[in-house]
Amino acid sequence: MLVKVLKTRKEMIAWRKACDANQRIGFVPTMGALHQGHLSLIKKSKRECDKTVVSIFVNPTQFGPQEDFKKYPRKHKKDLSLLKLEGVDCVWIPKSIKEVYPNEVETFVKARQSLCEMMEGLHRPGHFDGVVTVVAKLFQLVEPHRAYFGEKDFQQLKVIEAMVEDLFFLVKIRPCKIVREKSGLAMSSRNQYFSKDDRQAAAQLHEILRSADSIAKAKTALKKSDFNLEYLESWNEDLSKQTTASPCRWLVAARFKGVRLIDNIVR
Ligand code: AMP
Repeated sequence: MLVKVLKTRKEMIAWRKACDANQRIGFVPTMGALHQGHLSLIKKSKRECDKTVVSIFVNPTQFGPQEDFKKYPRKHKKDLSLLKLEGVDCVWIPKSIKEVYPNEVETFVKARQSLCEMMEGLHRPGHFDGVVTVVAKLFQLVEPHRAYFGEKDFQQLKVIEAMVEDLFFLVKIRPCKIVREKSGLAMSSRNQYFSKDDRQAAAQLHEILRSADSIAKAKTALKKSDFNLEYLESWNEDLSKQTTASPCRWLVAARFKGVRLIDNIVR
């Protein structure tokens, strides 16, 4: 059986309406170019829910003007074959941007400010507003009981949890562990931008996070290994304060061979 592909809001809403009231609906929002990281979210949803919905949408409002929206990998055919193997119940692939943003000027959700003043929020102004806006729209259409997000984008996960709390969404956010390549490099759709050798070398990012004695030493090691560092910071688990007291989380963004990587690790 082929996976059920829905292309319009109307189709998504009709599919959801046809679900039994007692069925638990799991939702995995993605931008596609799926890899094992995405599939781990889907597997968790399949374990915990009666039906699993995946969305694939490269959301323009979360990309800055100088970012890679246009060249972001779009691989629907391959994605659909992976989703078929996973046995998801349906995939929402909006047929155009207008399906998600029908009006020229629209209501926009603003992410909780205290979570946007550092790291990704500082380096990608407006990024999290675009993320929470699209996620709020998707939650309205899919009405999931549970939604699955990766710790790979740890600050994003916290921003979405805050949106759900602040706007009284009833969905339960389920965090999922980072899935890595054999080398240690966190899986990412953007890893496709690398040559084979550079992809292997990029794994130094994780190795340095794991092995450095201090943030300062990690920064030095990253620079030495040709990483162009945007930030490396140590925070507590809810990102309410910077601390190096264990357990803390080191979060990093760096460019390597022109590709922007983010990662984090509990220390
Ligand atoms: P994206 O398609 O990059 O927007 O990611 C969709 C979801 O998959 C987000 O919740 C990401 O955090 C999650 N994700 C992406 N890469 C990984 C990974 N390597 N491990 C776990 N989750 C991931």
